[in-house]
Amino acid sequence: MQELNRLVLASNNPGKLRELSALLAPLRIELFPQHSFDIPEAEEPYATFIENALGKARHAAARSGLPALADDSGLCVAALDGAPGVRSARLAGEPSDDRRNNARLLALLEGERDRRAHYYCVLVLMRRADDPQPVVAEGEWHGEILCAERGSGGFGYDPVFWLPDLACAAAELTPEHKNRISHRARAFERLIARLREIE
Ligand code: IMP
Repeated sequence: MQELNRLVLASNNPGKLRELSALLAPLRIELFPQHSFDIPEAEEPYATFIENALGKARHAAARSGLPALADDSGLCVAALDGAPGVRSARLAGEPSDDRRNNARLLALLEGERDRRAHYYCVLVLMRRADDPQPVVAEGEWHGEILCAERGSGGFGYDPVFWLPDLACAAAELTPEHKNRISHRARAFERLIARLREIE
């Protein structure tokens, strides 16, 4: 996988860089955040996660001249026809605020008996900006939306995301536990399996 040993990450999020760098290290892939190439954040104008991830990866590959890895993720709630989806970070408007988003979600679901929801993550690796066959990997994590917040770990909707099998909210898991079973962990696992196939 000679041409994939250096990748630009289409995000400036230090948490994502740390997590992904550790996961890609066994494949001898080095990740560089896009700000190290002075690349600004791409717009995320689309209605689907995959389109936003493709847009971000293409933007970073075009500007860096390197292969690029992008992710996009969010929460999809059954009773809301999959919303907030790509608008997860801004459900309660700009600027993005986790507490306000959770309060808004609980208000939207007040009196609703169907509490099913899942987190979704898609990862896209583009070898070049005009790569006709990007590597795509998805992950889902299923649970239910609580009626009130629980726990203080994680971020985003984790305090209202109930895991029936574990009988706790995502915000009550240790970071290590969450990173083994989350939508992002599952997508990373599948991406790595695909990269090993290509290798
Ligand atoms: P991003 O685009 O992957 O940074 O995430 C988009 C939004 O989806 C976040 O701001 C959160 O609102 C939500 N989200 C994505 N992943 C998670 C998670 O693991 N826990 C809680 N919220 C998440």
